[in-house]
Amino acid sequence: MTKHLFAAFLLASAAPSLAQPAPTQVAQLRDDALKDNYAWDIVEGLTTEVGPRMAGTEAEARAREWAVKKLKAMGFANVRIEPFDMPVWTRGAEGAEVLTPFPQRMVITALGNSASTPPEGITGEIVGFNSMAEFEAAPADEVRGRIVFVSHAMPRTQDGSGYGFFGGPRRQGPTVASKKGAIAIVVRSIGTDYHRNPHAGVQTFADGVKPIPAGALSIPDAEQLQRILKRGQPVTMHLTLVSQVTQGKSGNVIAEVPGRDPKAPFILVGGHLDSWDQGTGAIDDGSGVAITTAAAKRIMDAGRPLRTIRIVWFGAEEVGLFGGIDYQKKHGTELHYAIAESDFGADRIWKVDSKLGKDREAEAKALQIALAPLGIVPGSLEKADGSDIEPLLNAGLPGVGLSQDGTHYFDIHHTPDDTLDKIDPEALRQNVAAWTAMLGVLSGGIEPEPKRAKRR
Ligand code: ZN
Ligand code: ZN
Repeated sequence: MTKHLFAAFLLASAAPSLAQPAPTQVAQLRDDALKDNYAWDIVEGLTTEVGPRMAGTEAEARAREWAVKKLKAMGFANVRIEPFDMPVWTRGAEGAEVLTPFPQRMVITALGNSASTPPEGITGEIVGFNSMAEFEAAPADEVRGRIVFVSHAMPRTQDGSGYGFFGGPRRQGPTVASKKGAIAIVVRSIGTDYHRNPHAGVQTFADGVKPIPAGALSIPDAEQLQRILKRGQPVTMHLTLVSQVTQGKSGNVIAEVPGRDPKAPFILVGGHLDSWDQGTGAIDDGSGVAITTAAAKRIMDAGRPLRTIRIVWFGAEEVGLFGGIDYQKKHGTELHYAIAESDFGADRIWKVDSKLGKDREAEAKALQIALAPLGIVPGSLEKADGSDIEPLLNAGLPGVGLSQDGTHYFDIHHTPDDTLDKIDPEALRQNVAAWTAMLGVLSGGIEPEPKRAKRR
């Protein structure tokens, strides 16, 4: 134990209640975390020893086994897998080729839940739209029997806000296209880079809508197709998007740092274990499970928090929040003190939002103060977010949102470029420091454990 930490402990112990930890204890934990290696160790190990972890596949099952072994080795308690069944979509051969008027290959990948083309592919005339609104307004006659192409360029923003609105062609485009009688749809990738990499991502056909093949072109290819269409001649494309759906299993991996008061509401932190299949899921979301687990480990190293910290590595997030929904079903009524998820890459955290409720405003302010030295600006006191925890947040559970800088996130997101080398170890440490400070503030105070005799 450092001198600082011990002094902080004495201060905390002197207080009548341990509900609020001493700011000095939190500051020490935060600053020590800037030297963290746990997070890098986790994300390096997971991406190297497992690699891509597509939801419901054998690879994701291996990732769960890896996680259990790792979490046990790190000393966490109650390490377990909670399995659930799900439909498993996997991709096969894929390709796109403009046949006329200017024959050339294009780079494409199927969107999640796309219908399969026959192995030999399909051929159709392209009808193009520059935005989702333009496409939605188009009469079905213009679309029927054709392959739809929708652009809708996404802007680069720090908070990633372009992903919602400009993600329309991927999320709603396939359903709209099918309803209008299209034989397939290709969209401009939802991304901000100019690499010749298509961005994968899930889409879900609305109930009663016939699934059609749906793919994303890399951004350079989408712009090339736009230029070809602008020449005004009929454009035909050959499209191969083979995929299959089977029944399979996924699961959430759960581990805990037991609190001194097992009856006190607990804190939930985590990220998702599954990834898309082209990269190794380093920034989405190996870094998220690594950051949150490293922070919990640092609290555990310092002693015993008043409140239990539960870590969840959610399964099958990418293809429809299966893990988050399963967790809510099994644990939604338990007493959660606060919930938070890291799922926006590994760049520096720049803002803290929280939604802890009116009666916990002092705690929310203490959190803002504890994070400020890391360059984190105070955000809203009425907002928190996170994909897997969204069902819980919607049900009104208190939450915290630590926003990472998303300026470059969508250059890499869901592409073959999502690999370990894209993580800046210093930015990763800043994340761990922020999450550690957050857990410190919410923990109810950490009591150092009496020194155990060294075993030889
Ligand atoms: Zn994610
Ligand atoms: Zn993702």
